[in-house]
Amino acid sequence: MGKAKRSGQFVVPGDKLGVIEEFIPDSGTFVEDGAIHSENVGYILMDFANKKVSVYPTSPNLNVPKVGSIVVGNARSVQSSAAAIRMIKVGKKFISGHFTGMIHISDVSFRYTDNMFDAFKVGDLVRAKVVSDKNKTFHLSTKGENLGVIYAFCSQCGGLLVHKGRGLACQTCGYVERRKTASDYGKGTI
Ligand SMILES: [Zn+2]
Repeated sequence: MGKAKRSGQFVVPGDKLGVIEEFIPDSGTFVEDGAIHSENVGYILMDFANKKVSVYPTSPNLNVPKVGSIVVGNARSVQSSAAAIRMIKVGKKFISGHFTGMIHISDVSFRYTDNMFDAFKVGDLVRAKVVSDKNKTFHLSTKGENLGVIYAFCSQCGGLLVHKGRGLACQTCGYVERRKTASDYGKGTI
């Protein structure tokens, strides 16, 4: 658990604000597994008298993903045929709101992907393109050199993975893993 949050603190979508035992989630927040998170890029308001927590957006201009957008997000779950990406940025701007996109195994790479677990792992930061919003689901693709994982962490110890030969290795424990990386893996700004 991180440090306690204060009113006026800047947060981005997904940042943990507290738990439902302490606060009532109010505008600009969402609850996941009993924890209250920010839904917006903005500033926290903690109302201790009413035990409410809300987040005021920094900008009323909604910045949401669209077909054709390049997005950056965190891999939230990886299954044998698809990965779920919690999108945090569209282009250079943080996203207003809570959006998840799916990468199907056929959209990982121009090459055949036989194991989704060698492409993404939970916690990876991924750059992808929104290819469809059919049935109110954002479908993402990482086909192309500049798309794919931009930062990944060791599944054994959580250390940062760095390029080693044709794969990635943990800079802390040396464990070797694979990902579908973007050409600027480990160098990009988020
Ligand atoms: Zn490690």
